[in-house]
Order: sequence, then C-alpha cells, then structure tokens
Amino acid sequence: MISIIVPCKNEEQAIPLFYPVLIENLKNLNQDYELIIVDDGSTDKTVEVCMDLKKKDPNIKVISFSRNFGKEAGMLAGLKESKGDYVAIMDADLQDPPALLEEMYRYVTEEGYDSAATYRVDRKGEPPIRSFFARQFYRLINSMIDVEIVDGARDYRLMSRKMVDAIISLPEYNRFSKGIFSWVGFKTKYVEFENVERVAGETKWSFWKLFAYAIDGIVGFTTAPLRIATYSGLTVSVFGFLYMLYIVIKALTIGDPVAGYPSLIAIICLLGGIQLIVIGIMGEYIAKTYLESKRRPHYIIKEIK
Ligand code: UDP
Ligand code: MG
Repeated sequence: MISIIVPCKNEEQAIPLFYPVLIENLKNLNQDYELIIVDDGSTDKTVEVCMDLKKKDPNIKVISFSRNFGKEAGMLAGLKESKGDYVAIMDADLQDPPALLEEMYRYVTEEGYDSAATYRVDRKGEPPIRSFFARQFYRLINSMIDVEIVDGARDYRLMSRKMVDAIISLPEYNRFSKGIFSWVGFKTKYVEFENVERVAGETKWSFWKLFAYAIDGIVGFTTAPLRIATYSGLTVSVFGFLYMLYIVIKALTIGDPVAGYPSLIAIICLLGGIQLIVIGIMGEYIAKTYLESKRRPHYIIKEIK
C-alpha cells in the first residue's frame, strides 16, 4: 500500500482540483492507497470539502489539529499515522506534480532507492528577491552542515517504510524536515521538475516567515554560528590588543594630544554591534534548548475522521 500525506491549511479551493489529478496518477501505480489529509487548523471549509470526498472515497482519512501547528507538524502527524509500505508527502496546491509519482515509485520499488525526492530546477513565478535569498540560504547552510540540502528541494518525496520509521524516530521539537530527510541518510534519487504555480488559494509564506524558517533550519542543524561568534571575538580581540599597543607606544613617544573622538565612537559602535550579534546567536541556541527541554508534543489532534 502507498500512503499519500497532504498537509493542508485553508485549501478549500485547491483540494477539489488536486484530488482528481492525484487519483488519476495513483491509478497508474496499480496499488492500494490511503490519502491522509492533515488539516492544520484551517479556518475555511477544508474539512467539509474533504469529508465530501470521503463519502465517495473511503481511502481518505482526515486528521484535524486543534489549531495551526505549521507544515512540519502536519507532515510528522501524517508520517506517524501512515500505514503504507511507501509514503509520499505532497502539497495540496498541485505545485508538487502528481504526474511524477509514477517515476518516483519506480525508483523506490525497482531501482533500489529508499526515497525519491524532487527539486525545482527554476523558480519561475517567484519574486526575484525571494529567489535570491533562497539561493544564498542554501549556499550558507550547505557550507555549515555535514549533510547536503539540495537547492530547490521540495518536501515532495516518496519514501520507503524504513526511512519513514527513521524520520519518526527523531524526537526533536524543532523540526526542519529538509535537513532531517538528508540527516537520516538512505539512498535518495533526485527527480527534477520545472516550477509550477499554485492552482488556487494563496501561499502561506511571507518573506519574514521564510527568513525565520531559514534561521530555524541553520540553528536546528549546526552549531557553526557559535563557532563563528568565537572566531570573530578572537579576531576582534587580537586587533584590539594591537591597537592598544599602538596607542600606548604613540602616547609614550609623541605624547597624547586628546583627539580621536570619531575613531573612539566608530570602535564602540563596531564592537557594540558585534557583541549584540553574538548575544543574539547565543540566544537563538538557548531559546531552542528551552523549547526542546519543555518536551511539548509537536501537535494536538482534535479529531481523526
Ligand atoms: N501548510 C500547512 N500548514 C501551514 C502552512 C502551509 O499545512 O501552516 C500546507 C499548505 O496547505 C500546502 C503546503 O503546506 O499544502 C505548502 O504550503 P504553500 O503552498 O503555502 O507553500 P509554498 O508552496 O508557497 O512553499
Ligand atoms: Mg505551494
């Protein structure tokens, strides 16, 4: 059996368009399926729309959260609930083309891969500034972490049960799936496709949400920024020491005409800035530790239908 997990927040318009396309493509696989729709605190008619579909298709299961917990929580809930030998995660807005399923299925069933993942080769239809920052993010995070995160990788992937179990076994509270997928290892085949625009509804990502997501991803997967903080502290200290020597020697040899107010202010501002950044970096890690130590569940299920 194959499980399809679809995290949904306010997708009443997209689901009726998504469902027939998905079913059409599932037919080609000739497999039993279950469709797990995770309603992530939708405030529109998402659940009603799904229940209508369920009347005709008993393979649908709807998990409703008590509020919006975010897509990461939605994906995790779906993975935990899934029973299939193969599990796919995809968006409801048809940005993850169901037509790729057949090819992905072939890789995991016939060619010995544990997972078939997808990435977009372009970012057509996306604001250029957003694409630019996304690219920089992938360059940055890949330079700092041990495992590789492919630029443009989607959460859309098909995995074997083995891999799904490995993912579920990671208990961390701050989940950054793009990292987790690579961290658990396994043989992954990357399938490329061209960016498709959302069929209906709106994206839930604003620039600042993405920015926060990027920081969470970095903090969740590497402590390199702390190292950078240490190194920059060391560098600044060395320069500070040399500058101190210079000042002392200068005062001893040619006296000390009290001047240099601008340079003093410049140095204070620079050091103040560096200190604040370093405290901020430390704060990010302390905050994450705090959240982890509370051991709260990732989500709360209101009902499963
Ligand atoms: N989503 C979710 N919870 C959220 C935000 C989004 O379950 O808090 C779902 C959304 O319904 C969609 C998928 O995650 O199925 C991807 O969201 P979106 O299309 O807004 O992201 P984008 O494709 O623009 O990256
Ligand atoms: Mg989308």
